[in-house]
Amino acid sequence: MAEFVVEPRLKGFICTTAHPVGCREVVRELVARAKRNSFAGPKSVLVIGASTGYGLASRIAAAFGAGAATCGVSFERPAEGERTASAGWYNTAAVEHFAGEEGLLVRSVNGDAFSAEIKNKTIELLRNDFPPVDLIIYSLASPRRTDPAGVTHRSTLKPIGRPFSGKTVQTDSGVVREVVLEPATEEEIAGTVAVMGGADWLLWMEALRKANVLAEGVRTVAYGYVGPELTWPIYRDGTIGRAKGDLEATVAQIDRLLAAIGGRALISINKAVVTQASAAIPVVPLYISLLFKLMKELHSHEDCMDQMLRLFRERLYCRGPLPEGAVDGSGRIRLDERELDPALQRKISDRWPSVSTDNLLELTDFSGYRSDFLRLFGFGVDGVDYGRAARVDVC
Ligand code: NAD
Repeated sequence: MAEFVVEPRLKGFICTTAHPVGCREVVRELVARAKRNSFAGPKSVLVIGASTGYGLASRIAAAFGAGAATCGVSFERPAEGERTASAGWYNTAAVEHFAGEEGLLVRSVNGDAFSAEIKNKTIELLRNDFPPVDLIIYSLASPRRTDPAGVTHRSTLKPIGRPFSGKTVQTDSGVVREVVLEPATEEEIAGTVAVMGGADWLLWMEALRKANVLAEGVRTVAYGYVGPELTWPIYRDGTIGRAKGDLEATVAQIDRLLAAIGGRALISINKAVVTQASAAIPVVPLYISLLFKLMKELHSHEDCMDQMLRLFRERLYCRGPLPEGAVDGSGRIRLDERELDPALQRKISDRWPSVSTDNLLELTDFSGYRSDFLRLFGFGVDGVDYGRAARVDVC
C-alpha cells in the first residue's frame, strides 16, 4: 500500500502528480452541482474521453443530473511505486464510487480509445450490461493516434501559412513572454487532422451501429471551439482548427449512418475553460486569464460543469423552445455566446497589448487560472489536508 505526502510538481503546462483525495473532493463537488440541477435527460450514455475536462463534466451531468447509466472511456495511468496515478484515474475512481452509492449503473474502460481492442471491449460491455445507448459524447483530446492501419499520427498546435508570434503566459512561472511559431508543414496539418478530426468519431459510430447497441433516436455530440479573433491564428486558422473543421464535416457522414434509426450527430461549440488540453495551447492560458477576469466581473463566468449542465438542460434536453442563438447557421449548438459577447471581447483586445509579467495579477485572473489548473490535479481544494500522507493506489 503506497502512502505518502503528495505535492504538485509543475513542469511547464503539465503537473506530473495528482492528489487522490483532492481529485475525489473535486468530483464530489461536481456531483453535488449536477444533483442540484437535475433534469429529464438521457438514460444510457457512452462518454469517450470521460475522465477529465468536458468529458468528465458531461459524464457527471448525465449520471447525477439525469440518473443515466454511464460508460466512460479514458486513457489514464494507475499509480506505480512512488508515482501517483494521473488525475483522470482518480476522477474515474471517484465517479464510480459516488455512482455506486446512488445505485447508478456505471462502468469504465481504461485504454486507447483509438484502438479496435478498446472499441470492442466497450461494445461488449454495453451489449451485456447497458440499455440501448441514447447518447454518445465524443470528448477526446490527444497528442497522438494510431489508426487501424497501424500508422501513428501526431497532432501539433501550429499556425498555417505564415509564422505566428504572440504573447503567452507560462503556467508554472507566471512569466509572460512572446512565442514565435513557424507554420505547420503539410504533414503536420494532416497529422493533426488524423488525430483530432472526425475519422475516429466515425469509426466509433460505425462500430456501435454495427453491434446494434444504439437506441432509436440516438444522438452523438462532439465538442468544438471557435473563440475570438485574437486566438484565430493559433486556433481556428491553425492546425487544430483544420482538425475541428474535419470533425464538423463528419457530422453529415454520421447522420447518414444513423438515419435508419432516426439518430443524429451534433457539434457543440463550447467556451474556453481550464483543462489539461487547453493549457497546452500557446496564447490560450493568457487569453483565458483575461477572459475569466472580465467574465467574473460580469457574473457570466462558467466552468466545464456550468457549460455541460447548460448543454443538457437548455440545448439537448430543453423542454420548451430552444433559446435564441442556441444553434447557429451551420447547425452547431452554441454555448460560447457569453464568451464571444462583443463588448467583452473589445475589452480583452484593448487590454491585451499592455499585459506583462509585472501587471499580470492586476489585469488578468491569472491567480484564478492557476488555482483552476491546480484543482485539475486535486490540489488547492478546501478541506483537504495536504500535509497528510495519502494512499495513492486507489483503484
Ligand atoms: P482534457 O484533456 O481534459 O480531456 C481529454 C480526455 O481524453 C481525457 O478523458 C483523456 O483520458 C481522454 N483521452 C486522451 N487520449 C485518449 C486515448 N487515446 N484513449 C482514450 N481516452 C483518451 O480535454 P478537454 O479540454 O476537456 O477537451 C475535450 C474536448 O473539448 C476536445 O475536443 C476539445 O477540443 C474540446 N473543447 C475544449 C475547450 C477547452 O477550453 N478546454 C473548449 C471547447 C472545446
